[in-house]
Amino acid sequence: MIALTPEQDQFRRTVARFVDAEVAPVADALDERAEFPRALFQRLGALGWLGLRYPEAYGGADADMVTYCLFAEELARGSLSLAAAAAMQSLMGTYFVYKYGSDDLRQRYLVPALRGDLVATFALTEPDAGSDVAGITTRAERRGDRWVLRGGKTWVTNAPVADVLTVAAKTSGERGLRSIALFLLDRAAMPGIRLGKKIDKMAVRASETGEILLEDVEVPETHLLGGETGGVEKIGTILAEIRVMTAALSVGLARAAYETALGYSRQRVAFGKPIGEHQAIGFKLADMLTSIHAATLMTYQAAARLDAGRPIGREAAMAKLFASETAVRVTDEAARIHASYGLAMEYPVQRYFRDARFLLPGGGTSEILRVIIGRELDWDRGAAFA
Ligand SMILES: Cc1cc2nc3c(=O)[nH]c(=O)nc-3n(C[C@H](O)[C@H](O)[C@H](O)COP(=O)(O)OP(=O)(O)OC[C@H]3O[C@@H](n4cnc5c(N)ncnc54)[C@H](O)[C@@H]3O)c2cc1C
Repeated sequence: MIALTPEQDQFRRTVARFVDAEVAPVADALDERAEFPRALFQRLGALGWLGLRYPEAYGGADADMVTYCLFAEELARGSLSLAAAAAMQSLMGTYFVYKYGSDDLRQRYLVPALRGDLVATFALTEPDAGSDVAGITTRAERRGDRWVLRGGKTWVTNAPVADVLTVAAKTSGERGLRSIALFLLDRAAMPGIRLGKKIDKMAVRASETGEILLEDVEVPETHLLGGETGGVEKIGTILAEIRVMTAALSVGLARAAYETALGYSRQRVAFGKPIGEHQAIGFKLADMLTSIHAATLMTYQAAARLDAGRPIGREAAMAKLFASETAVRVTDEAARIHASYGLAMEYPVQRYFRDARFLLPGGGTSEILRVIIGRELDWDRGAAFA
């Protein structure tokens, strides 16, 4: 772990106490109900944690990326569902209106969203276009002083409860990335935004996910965020943060699984001694801890680099790739250490095992991240680190 400032360290302790007292005890119940955890979500808003990355003028805390990662990590340790909902709200859901919206839009949408009074989300993925963003077909056509949006989005986090959505749509019929633009949609004020199927999924069940159908939704020109083209470049400006944040979520979940497995290894006896004293289990725990340590270093090194204003495209991709794969491996090993009890719904380890799958696609799949990291390899210089 990198050295934390006294403020960062104090903040981590505060979030950890909150998670231990208010989140971890209800995480299994949240998962079972598979409903948006509104009360806890609003608590995060009231505590000012949904606005960590935003200026104080909008109710934010102007916090650095390391602090934001501490928040994401600790929350994920308690409930990855809650952390996923909060991450969407505090990054993608609110980023584009802050960065490209007028002050009027910021006051109407950003300020209440940071308080936790409005739920905000981001809708890019479509049934036939996930990693291949150029393939989206949602269209935005100009009609007089308005835009009319038609199409369908899927895998939208918080869709069933979202009040405000940043939607990616094409402003011309050409294939490719150029004509993608971002629009801010208000569910209550703009007729034609319909909720499609809610996706019944195995991971992060209390972070609801669903389809959004856009049926000739009329959107005022002022809700076009940052021009008719260049939406992908705008998404690009926040991608590194999303990846580092997802790495922090991965570290948090992996820690929870490791701690559970360690406790079980001390208490479960087989062949006359605690199973942790059998070398096979001890080695598993050693490998789990080593991977978590490496993932933590990569995550916070990338976050600190971002805070220092240095480029982190490659570091963010590597941190997300390594940390999310670590979370998948560590949660799997934790379940194996529990053997049959790893399958039992009354033990949290099955939730960790399921939830880890969520960390793989968001912010780029492992395959896409390898493509990105590979693209940046500097064959001539040999050493890849600057
Ligand atoms: C719980 C959850 C919440 C989500 N929330 C949101 C959200 O709020 N908003 C939103 O817009 N999206 C959201 N997503 C969608 C997510 O971003 C996409 O699922 C992701 O981009 C991958 O797209 P896909 O599933 O269509 O996979 P595909 O792109 O179809 O990929 C299928 C497989 O092919 C591989 N592949 C694809 N292209 C290449 C290539 N060039 N080289 C090598 N391998 C390749 C992939 O790695 C993968 O293994 C969410 C997903 C989940 C699971």
